[in-house]
Amino acid sequence: MKKQIGNIIDLFYPRTCRVCGRMLLTHEEFLCLHCIHNIPRTDFHKKESHPMEQLFRGKIDIQDAYAFFYFTQHGDYRRLIHNIKYKGEKRCGKYLGSLFASELLKEGKLQDIDIIAPVPLHHSRERARGYNQSEWVAKGIADVIGKEVYPHLLCRRKKNESQTHKSLYERWLNTHSAFYVQETSKIKDKHILLVDDVVTTGATLLACAEALLKSGNCKISLLTLAITQQNNK
Ligand SMILES: [Zn+2]
Repeated sequence: MKKQIGNIIDLFYPRTCRVCGRMLLTHEEFLCLHCIHNIPRTDFHKKESHPMEQLFRGKIDIQDAYAFFYFTQHGDYRRLIHNIKYKGEKRCGKYLGSLFASELLKEGKLQDIDIIAPVPLHHSRERARGYNQSEWVAKGIADVIGKEVYPHLLCRRKKNESQTHKSLYERWLNTHSAFYVQETSKIKDKHILLVDDVVTTGATLLACAEALLKSGNCKISLLTLAITQQNNK
């Protein structure tokens, strides 16, 4: 019966792969198996030194830094992030969070994480969008590693002005004090996995990690779904 209803729903909302556009098979969700196989994975967790770790080296003490795939300006996988951010596909964010966490877990990673904290959106932006995409990625990870997500552990102080034309240092200054920790008692002696959708300059993650480290004795690891291709050196 459930399957029949599923088939009827599919008639009205054809289930297609978000990357290649092909029809999905019954057991597939959001991506076809072919496109899952071809995700442009960074495999940073298999490397000692990598572009994401280099973004934070010398600035802040990070345990591990993970990014699922490369985000290129014209790549097919760019659409995934766009849909998660702007087209309401929060469940696709959750799905990718779970997929990446499963792969990391198989490699023996994420085992000593205690809690998961998404990078917060500004209140007005979250209200307008209806959700925080990073929180949904965090939920997907939580399903796999069995740890709790604290969506309001970190808060944003003020809305950042557009940063497109600013230098890295200006961006860093702009976001430097934009975050504060709301529930400091929750982070004591914890290893926190800080989650965002994409990392570009690292300024936002840096500001969040600093706020956490300043607020209590904790350890930080970072996880994003994507890293922009300019960091692929
Ligand atoms: Zn596909």
